[in-house]
Amino acid sequence: MLRRFFAYYRPHRRLFLLDFSCAVLSGVLELAFPIAVKAFVDVLLPRQDWPLILLAALGLLVVYLMNTGLMAVVTYWGHALGINIETEMRRKAFDHLQRLSFQFYDNQKTGHLVARVTKDLEEVGEVAHHGPEDLFIAVMTFLGAFALMFTVNVPLALMTAVIVPLIAWASTHYGARMTVTWRNLFGRVGAFNARIEEAVGGIRVVQAFGNEDHERTLFARDNARYRSTKLEAYRIMAASMSLNYLGMRLTQMVVMLAGSWFVLNGQLTNGEFVGFLLLVGVFFRPVEKISAVIETYPKGIAGFRRYTELLDTRPDIADALDARPAPALRGEIRYEQVRFGYGTGRPVLDGVELRIAAGHTVAFVGPSGAGKTTLCSLLPRFYEVQGGRITIDGIDIRQMTLASLRAQIGIVQQDVFLFAGTLRENIAYGRLGASEAEILEAARRARLDQLIEQLPEGLDTLIGERGVKLSGGQKQRLAIARIFLKNPPILILDEATSALDTETERAIQQSLTELAEGRTTLVIAHRLATVRNADRIVVVDRSGISAQGTHAELMQRNALYQRLNGAQAELLA
Ligand code: ADP
Ligand code: MG
Repeated sequence: MLRRFFAYYRPHRRLFLLDFSCAVLSGVLELAFPIAVKAFVDVLLPRQDWPLILLAALGLLVVYLMNTGLMAVVTYWGHALGINIETEMRRKAFDHLQRLSFQFYDNQKTGHLVARVTKDLEEVGEVAHHGPEDLFIAVMTFLGAFALMFTVNVPLALMTAVIVPLIAWASTHYGARMTVTWRNLFGRVGAFNARIEEAVGGIRVVQAFGNEDHERTLFARDNARYRSTKLEAYRIMAASMSLNYLGMRLTQMVVMLAGSWFVLNGQLTNGEFVGFLLLVGVFFRPVEKISAVIETYPKGIAGFRRYTELLDTRPDIADALDARPAPALRGEIRYEQVRFGYGTGRPVLDGVELRIAAGHTVAFVGPSGAGKTTLCSLLPRFYEVQGGRITIDGIDIRQMTLASLRAQIGIVQQDVFLFAGTLRENIAYGRLGASEAEILEAARRARLDQLIEQLPEGLDTLIGERGVKLSGGQKQRLAIARIFLKNPPILILDEATSALDTETERAIQQSLTELAEGRTTLVIAHRLATVRNADRIVVVDRSGISAQGTHAELMQRNALYQRLNGAQAELLA
């Protein structure tokens, strides 16, 4: 994992080197200070030579100024390094999210995913900057100060050494506990992100059912869990910090007592005494820093774990190694012995045989939950067949690149997902980069032109989040305009008009008929009246495809179709 982490430094080698060397130099200067003071007290002071003392002070000033500059470089460029790495990771995470399949998203909560790409990576960026540098400098000053202590006075250094195992124990013990706690904390943040996302996204449903209290309760629970996890983290922090403080002060006290004794017995000079006390301070500085490190490291490690987990989720639907871009398709579709199921249970489809001639319209009818949507989802490879195969123009769809396959299939569903932008942006989503004239033409063919003319801002009208400012029929027309613009040879209409009233449905049906012209069309129909004229009607029930034929044929010989028709005729009567 460490190697994987450091791979991210490769493009920023020079920045890292600059930051790192400045930080190390600054650390060395810190180490040199006690030794300089020792020489000052022992050598310069007894001489009572004021010009020399002033010169020494001047030298010190120069060193301080240098250190100021070094600190500025480390603060700015070090953080720049961190954010560069963070940005790169975020880009990769987002890219990866774009490639994961429907199956993956079926089992995820949006809020959790958002947290991974935002909060988690922020922590990783923080460690990317401080991580290697702080660790190195901490070890360097720790060992450096320790070694210097021995050069000043061995017995005092040995007394100080007694504390070292305690320090080592405390940092590993608390570090490990902290990692676990931060990891939990990230999960909690994800949980309440997901909760907010759902409660806000579904606010219309929440209020319509008057379930605000229910949502409040659920949120309060997540919020409280977050709080208690955070409290746990603070408890660990408090314990480790106070332990460190106590260790440092006790050591200083011991050095104070023993040092005084040595000075009075003439075994230690004044300069050595002062220098040693300062060294104890430097020795403990990295340990003091451990409280900071103990916070950022585990956070960063936990964040990086969650990041690599995401990256390691292989997209289960991707281009095969030998996949080629599909040619311009005519749209002759075949399902051969197709089997598919969502989980481990009984497959939704098994042994499905289906042939659709290029340019024909085939309608799927049958009870809800029979597998009509599933059957159609297999064609653009939103889900992968588990047995058998699907071909278009004789080519197995797995042999085509996903992009070239999906570019030739247009889908209009019952619930249209619109983006919070303008009408123009939403239509242009069908083919990015389409010209104004093409967008207007698509809008006209979807009969959106009247609406656009009425609106004061025309195509530039903002339609609200998910298109809340549009009516159901208008949204559906927008979805149709997108497909006109995309102009694919294959079309899937999945209950495109089911949510609409009969009058709107009839109007939109015209646009759909026009859209279907010259394309191979798979229609899932809720109201059978709308598909009587299909070239073929396929009856789907829980056992798969149970019959196929024209309306007239099925009326004669298929009981289920007769029943479905009868029920609807009654409703309409
Ligand atoms: P239809 O479109 O005919 O109403 P579907 O194809 O949507 O039926 O669903 C067929 C079956 O598959 C149903 O039992 C449904 O519960 C199940 N199903 C649909 N989508 C998913 C999914 N994403 N994950 C798991 N099961 C699903
Ligand atoms: Mg369906």
